[in-house]
Amino acid sequence: THFGFKNVPTDLKESLVADVFSSVASKYDLMNDAMSAGIHRLWKDTFIRRMSPMPGAKLLDVAGGTGDIALRYLNYQDKINYDSTSSVHLVDINPQMLAAGEKRFAGSRWVQDERIKFSVGNGENLVGIESNSVDIFTIAFGIRNCTTPQNVLNEAYRVLKPGGRFMCLEFSKVEQPVISALYDVFSFKVIPEIGQVIANDRESYQYLVESIRQFPDQRTFAEMIRKAGFTTVREGYENLTFGVAAIHTGFKV
Ligand code: SAM
Repeated sequence: THFGFKNVPTDLKESLVADVFSSVASKYDLMNDAMSAGIHRLWKDTFIRRMSPMPGAKLLDVAGGTGDIALRYLNYQDKINYDSTSSVHLVDINPQMLAAGEKRFAGSRWVQDERIKFSVGNGENLVGIESNSVDIFTIAFGIRNCTTPQNVLNEAYRVLKPGGRFMCLEFSKVEQPVISALYDVFSFKVIPEIGQVIANDRESYQYLVESIRQFPDQRTFAEMIRKAGFTTVREGYENLTFGVAAIHTGFKV
């Protein structure tokens, strides 16, 4: 098996990540609910509330997958801001995940009004997206899968308008020792088992757990965001559920 890898070459990592998401695409939404007992939905709701976007804002959602962030964003704009001019560009490297997203929005008024579009693309090299052209850049549970996360942060800085905002939702580190021990048991024992039962695919979910462990902690990641040029307010992050996940944000001033 190639999962559980630590030091695989980067081009190999890219193809492994592609395999993982191709094999889970159809079960992706179900698995998210099963593994987090639905909590990922609350994290995503919080993420959009913290964003509190301005009416008319242009969102670029990278690694947008099946569109959970895009959907919540457009709903927020419609229902809270009474806005019908804002738009989303959803980019994902995996055509199967993108197809699942497109299917979800098919026939919606957002598609009819051209408020959402989908492209296959790599967040580390956003060719075709102009510099200084988007108001908000989001990446949710995606940057961890990228070969060189710093490249994504640099691209985010490039494509955002001055005054624009970068927001990332990602698994992070639990610091409280007792909760951390419980979380270890859950992630190393329970998650691969759920993956086996629901998706008949233990390995993809072992990879998932492994990739969470290898991702930088809250402070290190905030430092990477500043290194890309962003300004952060205080520490630049907020923990969700004891740090199981975190929202990081930075402004291009
Ligand atoms: N943002 C969605 C959500 O929160 O439900 C999907 C998250 S899913 C866990 C991760 C997504 O990242 C997958 O759809 C995968 O194809 C995509 N991805 C991985 N590497 C990428 C890259 N370099 N550029 C763009 N998307 C990438």
